[in-house]
Amino acid sequence: MSTAKEHSGGNVAVSESRRYHELARARIAGGVNSNVRLSGTPICFASGKGSRLTDVDGNVYIDYALGMGPNILGHAPPAVTDEVARALGIGQLFAGQHPLELELANRFCSCVRSAELVRFGLSGSEMVQAAMRVARAYTARPEVIKFEGHYHGWFDNILINNSGPISGEGDPLPRPHHLQSAGQSPQASADVAVLPWNDFEAIDRYVSANATKIAAIITEPVMLNTGGILPKQGYLQHLRRVTKQHGIVLIFDEVITGFRVALGGAQELYDVEPDLSVFAKALGAGFPVSALAGRREIMELFASGRVNHSGTYNANIVSISAALATLQVLSADGQAAYTRINGHGRTLMEGITAAAHQYGVDLQVSGLPSAFHTCFASHPIHDYTTYSRADHKRLGLFLAALLERGVRPTGRGTWFVSSAHTDSDITSTLDAVGYALKRCL
Ligand code: PMP
Repeated sequence: MSTAKEHSGGNVAVSESRRYHELARARIAGGVNSNVRLSGTPICFASGKGSRLTDVDGNVYIDYALGMGPNILGHAPPAVTDEVARALGIGQLFAGQHPLELELANRFCSCVRSAELVRFGLSGSEMVQAAMRVARAYTARPEVIKFEGHYHGWFDNILINNSGPISGEGDPLPRPHHLQSAGQSPQASADVAVLPWNDFEAIDRYVSANATKIAAIITEPVMLNTGGILPKQGYLQHLRRVTKQHGIVLIFDEVITGFRVALGGAQELYDVEPDLSVFAKALGAGFPVSALAGRREIMELFASGRVNHSGTYNANIVSISAALATLQVLSADGQAAYTRINGHGRTLMEGITAAAHQYGVDLQVSGLPSAFHTCFASHPIHDYTTYSRADHKRLGLFLAALLERGVRPTGRGTWFVSSAHTDSDITSTLDAVGYALKRCL
């Protein structure tokens, strides 16, 4: 049965989840270990297998959250978990090198064409920090440009966004911005400029006036943290041209897109080579591993010791063996996993769009088959400003109704597809979409 245990129009019974949540709140701040999990129905999961999650009440969900993207092979894929279990026979952590990390580095660099040298870490946030640090060292310039609506981790110097209310045309560059958390150092944003994304004129205007102080431009190649917005035709190439012209380091944050939208990431899909890129999530299929990779000349600054990148747990056996097994599976049989993921993703995107037309609902589906976004808006969405005017309340109703039917996208409306999803999952999901759309008419 692909849907939640109780799905005949009423709420899914989640009494055990609620009980757990109350107990957890007494011991864990907010009852969760990542602030992203503070919102939405607090479900406590008992287990995951393939495309399904089972909660402590026994409800089964077809999961499109996939751990917020990483679980590209589904839950508990034996090809990875068996390999990790086997590798644990070697040990766990050596404060030294081991052959598996070189094997992974070789395989990684053969997948990612801009990767001449690589360093492995554990999370996306920390590797973004390494990327910005090495870019500043390489250029001897202070400023990093980031784009409104993009997310690059929770650390002080990058958890920064347009301060809104959302600006319109003719607004100043850089955008007025704010620190997104209480407790961030007030100085944290001093060396960051926030610009609108997908805006050729804005980048030209700002960079030509400020080039000598700009170390790096960091971008999600597809804006998957806000609205699943694709880069306009030629935009990533334009960023490449402008950065090259002014000696600025171009950083692609491929934490979501890497090994998900293609084996070589968004840089392969859009045929643009950044100087540096950050990978995490799908690289380890759900195990904690991340990477910073790029041009030898820049990455050598770590090798010389001039730029510090450290970490007790970096390249531990679990992370490295999980990533090795993941890349093996993703590369196998002419990359058959991507054919499957993209096929199912396309069917979902088309099916959801068709259902929205059928019910006359202004639901929009955007992004790529392996990671797409649903939102409600009657105007075209192409950037942060237009996305912020979408009907987020209606999205909440839609997602809650899907959950009742045992279908679980992420709480912000992003859907991740795995190689474990089956044809029947897709059929059940589209049935649930019809039900959920009717609920939010
Ligand atoms: N960059 C992007 C594009 C992300 O989506 C995320 C996490 N969602 C991060 C960086 C931070 O990664 P992590 O949560 O592993 O620190």
